[in-house]
Amino acid sequence: MLTYEGKVYRPPSEWRSLIVQATVGCSNNTCTFCGMYKEDHFHIKEEKDLFRELEEEAQAFQDYEKIFIADGDALCLSTDRLLRLMTKLKDLFPLCKRIGIYATALDINRKSLEELKKLKEAGLGIVYLGLETGSNELLKKIKKNMEAEDYIKAAAKLHEVGIFQSVTLITGLAGAGKSISYAKETAEVISQMNPEYVSYLTLMLDEGSELLESYKKGEFKPAGPDEALEEIYVFLDHYHGKGPSVFRSNHASNYLSLAGDLPKDVENLKTQIRASIRNEAYKDESFRRL
Ligand code: SF4
Repeated sequence: MLTYEGKVYRPPSEWRSLIVQATVGCSNNTCTFCGMYKEDHFHIKEEKDLFRELEEEAQAFQDYEKIFIADGDALCLSTDRLLRLMTKLKDLFPLCKRIGIYATALDINRKSLEELKKLKEAGLGIVYLGLETGSNELLKKIKKNMEAEDYIKAAAKLHEVGIFQSVTLITGLAGAGKSISYAKETAEVISQMNPEYVSYLTLMLDEGSELLESYKKGEFKPAGPDEALEEIYVFLDHYHGKGPSVFRSNHASNYLSLAGDLPKDVENLKTQIRASIRNEAYKDESFRRL
């Protein structure tokens, strides 16, 4: 049977998938808001052990329709290694229709179009990417190690080879009173990336994260509910992508559950947010004018 090291995370939409932990931790592991892999020393699992465990798993149950390769940015693995793994997965689990993986924009950009095409042909159907914000100033502040242009380039490569992308954004990363001003840049980057899926989470102060330590020292003040909603509102107001992008903001961390398709449902989503924001004190100038 499959064994796992440390805490294993997966996107909500992969809840029915077989989770295959090919790497442990995150090779980037610098983001100030993220505590997911802070206790893990990044390493690649032994291929022969992993394959043996997969063979055992397949003897017990074969009928997985989706498989998710973990951990944090498993696309950092070499293309040859990923192809060997995906070929093995397809052999052992013939009903699998889609393989998903977490990646950073840098992982994608390190691979050539030819490599990405081979991965697509081997079954890679979706890549989950954390953009968090489209502002380079804020990306630097949260130590993401990547710039908005890296994401735009990565998105174009994925579109070219036909691999779907699911992009995550986070409200409140700059703290109270500062986060809304970055939403316009986020809208611009997402409009250019034009991902198949985009979701907004609300900042949670993760155990082990640098931001939690800043909060404890009184250096970071989290944004409140109205401010978080207003950030999403400003994002939607400036979004001009051609879509269609499935938009979700219905994670347990969100204050208001939102779901729709972009750009079709932008006005409807904005109306829902307007109806929910009560506190005038949080409304910045741009919002009051809208
Ligand atoms: S947010 Fe993603 S890239 Fe950053 S440390 Fe966490 S898992 Fe790694």
